Amino acid sequence: MATVIPPKERVCERCGRHDEWDDETDAWLIVSDGDEKQVGNPHCLHEWDINGNYNPFED
Ligand SMILES: [Zn+2]
Repeated sequence: MATVIPPKERVCERCGRHDEWDDETDAWLIVSDGDEKQVGNPHCLHEWDINGNYNPFED
């Protein structure tokens, strides 16, 4: 049986918001680039791109 691996990272294709998954809190955390949080546009209907480095199955 293959193990399903949830995505660890997601980036919005529309506004550039960048989240990383936090295992400890079971929630998405907004990535900070230096002092600036990559929050994107708060009104954006985020279009998450998790295909780039998202492989749902472990080899
Ligand atoms: Zn967005």
